[in-house]
Amino acid sequence: TPDIRPLVAGNWKMNGLRGALDQIKAMAEGVKGPLSEKVEALICPPATLLYVATALCDDSPLLIGAQDCHQDVSGAHTGDVSAEMIADCFGTHVIVGHSERRTDHAESDALVRAKALAAFSAELVAIICIGETGDERKAGKTLDVLKTQLSGSVPDEATAENTVIAYEPVWAIGTGLTPTTQDVEDAHAFMRKELVARFGAAGSRMRILYGGSVKPSNARELMGVLNVDGALIGGASLKSADFLAIYGAY
Ligand code: PEP
Repeated sequence: TPDIRPLVAGNWKMNGLRGALDQIKAMAEGVKGPLSEKVEALICPPATLLYVATALCDDSPLLIGAQDCHQDVSGAHTGDVSAEMIADCFGTHVIVGHSERRTDHAESDALVRAKALAAFSAELVAIICIGETGDERKAGKTLDVLKTQLSGSVPDEATAENTVIAYEPVWAIGTGLTPTTQDVEDAHAFMRKELVARFGAAGSRMRILYGGSVKPSNARELMGVLNVDGALIGGASLKSADFLAIYGAY
């Protein structure tokens, strides 16, 4: 979208032991330069690596974020991490409502919305993931699903600064399959219309990322689609060479 600074974001999922910090180091170096004025770069490693990863990015435009947060600030929630804790580690973003969280942990739209609100309170940017399953797509329900998830998962307090939408067709995640560029364009045009209807000018400036089997070979085509304001990348964000090639596609 014209006038929107794109975001190229990597989601490491439950991958990346300490040795993988070499990849963060290479990415932190690789994103230095004039392109960083135009395009934002973000890596979301596992929470165990947040603090050391942000330290490695001290003098780099590479941003570090988390993959999930609890909706509360603190308390008796064994094993969980709050948005404040992510901010305390100098993280800037948090992914909420990834389809793997929605499936593995039965996260509802209401819970995802609560997590996004927690992110705002901690002054983090929430990357709110939505997307249809393969069955929903076959049933012709893609736009209905996006409408429901947008209205249920995105808080009224969302702004173009505190919120990024990530459209990730579930059937395209980790499968090597991608929608046609026409399908991506149609889905993103629909989401843009919905966001503008609800948020006005802020909705026209809110970033909408595409995610699902983005790799160096298809990045330029996907990111060139109207209303695609960057990418959320899983598998291809683990290796610095791949991530930097996708970033460099801008
Ligand atoms: C993701 O899970 O956010 C994702 C897009 O994964 P992949 O790029 O591996 O399809």
